Amino acid sequence: MPEDQKCRLFLPVSGGISSLVLLQILDGQLQRQVANRNRTAYDIVVARVVLPGEEEQPTITGQSEDLKTRFPTHTFLPLLELHDVLRLDSKISHDLEYLGIAREEDESDKELFDRLISSTTSNTARADLQSILLQRLLVATAKREGCEGILWGHSDTRLAALALADVAKGRGGSVSSTIADGSSMHGIDFSYPLRELYEAELRLYGHATSEPLLVEAADYATPVKAQANIRATSIDDLLSTYITSQGEKYPSIMANVVRTASKLEARRPDGTIAACRVCVMPMTGGLGGQTTTSDLCYGCQRMRQDIRT
Ligand SMILES: [Zn+2]
Repeated sequence: MPEDQKCRLFLPVSGGISSLVLLQILDGQLQRQVANRNRTAYDIVVARVVLPGEEEQPTITGQSEDLKTRFPTHTFLPLLELHDVLRLDSKISHDLEYLGIAREEDESDKELFDRLISSTTSNTARADLQSILLQRLLVATAKREGCEGILWGHSDTRLAALALADVAKGRGGSVSSTIADGSSMHGIDFSYPLRELYEAELRLYGHATSEPLLVEAADYATPVKAQANIRATSIDDLLSTYITSQGEKYPSIMANVVRTASKLEARRPDGTIAACRVCVMPMTGGLGGQTTTSDLCYGCQRMRQDIRT
């Protein structure tokens, strides 16, 4: 294969231990390929999205520079922000109209994004919407970069939390396509190379490498938010905290959550199943699996009820 046609793989990093471990492992593999054959089988394109609430943290720019310095042979994209999805995903402005949000005259991407987020009336809807926008931003960027697939750094722990949160949010029908390896509804391959590893194991590995960036990430524990006011907590945060605390005690149960959820639906995206206009997941209908006539899946219909238009 000529050099210019080399496979490009997209690796989103969050600053957390999982995606950094994946970057370090892939870097090691590519270094060995260079040593043995003087060429690599693929290139990595690394992206980081600054999430709402993280903008003020000067550490993110610093972390990003440190990563570039430590892994100089890979392509690092400039830091992205969530509202960039409106610039990079050509269909999203139109798709958001299915949630009742239409761009006003002369409204900038940032203004439309802020209005969209502030129109959510529950923390669960806000977190749900942000995770959909984040995935669409990453997919759009990966496609623009000519990548063949996206390598997600999710640990088993994270996948279990995602699967359970999806079920709780009425997105149970799309769980298997959310966490399966292979072609996705987005028209780009997804893979989860760390799906068999628990977050605690990745932290141990991070320490064992003695790699300063990994040791630092392994030591960093996401602050457990006080849950005095359960109504103010999103389902995603609630399940993530639950799985992280309980998963350490019952790791095999968490592994089973992911393995079972991956097998729930045998149907693969083969072009015959319509995709939801907002989350781009298969339209499996609501309860009982009946076909829905709406343009939105059951989960997005529920989310829309918590969006003030
Ligand atoms: Zn949907």
